[in-house]
Amino acid sequence: MDETMARHVAEAASALRRILLAESGDLAGLPCPPGAARTAAIDSRAAPSNRPQPAADTRRAPDPLRETRPPVARQPSANPPQHQIAIPQPSPEFPGGLEELASRVRSCTLCSLHESRTNTVFGEGCITTPQVMFVGEGPGADEDLTGRPFVGASGQLLDRMIVAMGLRREDCYIANVVKCRPPHDATPLPNQAGACMPFLRAQISMIKPQFLVALGASAANAITGSQDGVARLRGRIHRYGDIPMVVTYHPAALLRNADYKRPTWTDLQMVMARLRSE
Ligand code: SF4
Repeated sequence: MDETMARHVAEAASALRRILLAESGDLAGLPCPPGAARTAAIDSRAAPSNRPQPAADTRRAPDPLRETRPPVARQPSANPPQHQIAIPQPSPEFPGGLEELASRVRSCTLCSLHESRTNTVFGEGCITTPQVMFVGEGPGADEDLTGRPFVGASGQLLDRMIVAMGLRREDCYIANVVKCRPPHDATPLPNQAGACMPFLRAQISMIKPQFLVALGASAANAITGSQDGVARLRGRIHRYGDIPMVVTYHPAALLRNADYKRPTWTDLQMVMARLRSE
């Protein structure tokens, strides 16, 4: 290997190392990464279904939610769309901001779910205008033990959904309607969801996500006030105030019934298309 080639190899190895280090960012590193990098992630991984497919796959389109490969290293776009990044502001009910809100949740006894919880699960992720805020129903066993949202089997599938969207978990904010685990993972009762909703409303108003995704009927009903199921609410863009929102199936439903994967992917593509257009 001559000297010039050796120098090129060394430069390429150095560039790859920088990319890999950037990819291994700590999830707890708030606020979220720079907008350019996040936007580039959407640009480069936006439409897996449009990729040319091998002949053997022509009978059935690929299932992006089965994707298990790690995210592809991404380069910032030359002209990324500019998003206005909002720093979370206190709300009138919670003048201490997100910290006060989380503290109030930790000591909350407003509904019976506090009696059996191990930990409250407030939510986590990017707090400065995340690209997407996912809202689920409530914590399960793993979440109750760790105090973190979506870390069990459903959380692993949600992570794959996020990657398939060209995003990273740290580009998003993840929360639930109820912050305490319902016994036996039951659907939260209306009075329990109603008692906890002021916390979620305050979270949304402080964090100001660019897009809301309601995962499952419980989250959709609590946020929209509708009593319709996911099948009737999905497939179109709703609004929560001035925030666009889609309703789709909860990852737990996808784990039970793979037929929900395709409509879910269609819903997530709507989110991606809207984010790309901004
Ligand atoms: S579920 Fe919500 S309202 Fe009920 S005790 Fe927990 S934090 Fe309070």
